[in-house]
Amino acid sequence: MPSQQPHTRLPGRLGGLLGLWLTLLLTGAFFVAHAPEAEAATSKKKTTKKKSSKKKPKKRPAASKPERVQPLSRDVDGAWGVTSGGEILEEEVEGDAEDGEEEEGGGDAMSQLDAIEKELLAHPPDPEPAHIELPPVISDPRPIDRKPGWVKHEVIPGETVDEIAERYNVTREQVIVWNRLDKKKPKLPFPGKTVRVMTKDAPLPRERLEHVAKRGETYESVAKDYGVEVEKLQRWNKKAGKKVESKEKLVVYREQPPPEALSGTGLAARLQQIRVPTGGVSIGKPSRGRLIRGVALPDRPDLYTRRKPDEAYGSTHAIGELMAAITTFRHQTGFKRSIVIGGISRARGGRFRPHKSHQSGRDMDIRMPVTAAAEGKRHITANDIDWKATWQLMRAFIDRGQVEYIFLDYQLQARIYKVAREQGATKEQLEHWLQWPVKKPKHQIIRHVEGHKVHFHVRVRCADHEKHCVTSR
Ligand SMILES: [Zn+2]
Repeated sequence: MPSQQPHTRLPGRLGGLLGLWLTLLLTGAFFVAHAPEAEAATSKKKTTKKKSSKKKPKKRPAASKPERVQPLSRDVDGAWGVTSGGEILEEEVEGDAEDGEEEEGGGDAMSQLDAIEKELLAHPPDPEPAHIELPPVISDPRPIDRKPGWVKHEVIPGETVDEIAERYNVTREQVIVWNRLDKKKPKLPFPGKTVRVMTKDAPLPRERLEHVAKRGETYESVAKDYGVEVEKLQRWNKKAGKKVESKEKLVVYREQPPPEALSGTGLAARLQQIRVPTGGVSIGKPSRGRLIRGVALPDRPDLYTRRKPDEAYGSTHAIGELMAAITTFRHQTGFKRSIVIGGISRARGGRFRPHKSHQSGRDMDIRMPVTAAAEGKRHITANDIDWKATWQLMRAFIDRGQVEYIFLDYQLQARIYKVAREQGATKEQLEHWLQWPVKKPKHQIIRHVEGHKVHFHVRVRCADHEKHCVTSR
């Protein structure tokens, strides 16, 4: 498998980033030169349209809101509805009484976004994925103890005793003894039959897939598509060296990701593997912006659950930060329960109801981690929240230095304050991070925005190379 994946070397990445940066500079120059015409052409039409679609702010009882802290913006997150897994996460009302960030002069902004989008799309992105750096793994502070147990391993075509031993982290001799194989010339049972292995590192059974070859495909291309080794693919299909015929059925055995957080060692090995496609660029403001080549949040059941995959697109930078923070959090805490990711953005960004922001691929809603007793519950309340884990997860984001804001209901910030102090955060640190118990908002990262009670909202900063990404305050 590893030989099939392109390995990103840092100098190559830097070169790529430099290229992208230059491209963006040129794009900016083009855009400045052409903006006035674009403005003149579209402003009239868009202005009229704007008026008719303008939002009427809804009134709410004042009691539902803390007195002294004014929301930063009108950001609103969607109702947390029923997921495919059957959990209802949160019901939230759209809108809040503050009039705020809804942008005026939309026509200009839209034509600007159109121009930027067109330019960025004209330049193909770096084919090398971005490699996200993670802090070095020193040791696992809380190794997850698992007792060894017997597992049945189904033999696949062409498999060897050594491969089985490696897969379960045991020795060749053990596999031989446990299965009473011939010591000199061990012969495995036929494919489909099983052997038994005593292990505490059992991966999930492999998936058996059938691939119908299309014209022009080769063993190399099929192996690459499935992330398997060519030589193994040929062994599974007993066709070493021969060509793949059109419409030929090829059997592929693919490893499955583990269902939950990995053991310390497993996760450490994976820490090096966060790679995110490049080209996902945030443009404009979170409340009036777009996403170029939105990067889909990959399916990683070992890290998180995606509530709606089609609403989980982000910039390369934001997706990388999200994956890195959760990986670090899982590793540092050993937290094994689910983390549910709600809305990020749509593939192209833009207005995404009922959210006010979430337009440019760098806003993400994350359900608060819950206690063991509440895992799987349909409705969760503040009592179900695992505050320590919530704080540790927020801290994993903050420590990466790429978070602009975290939105969290002011009253709940008191809970975070308490647990953060218990976890060793100083009062000085918390003054920078939390509004509570400060009476007025200053520049704190964690700030009150209505409706963030069982989920929090992370806004990732603009990346250095995102020249058209706008920080709204
Ligand atoms: Zn949100």
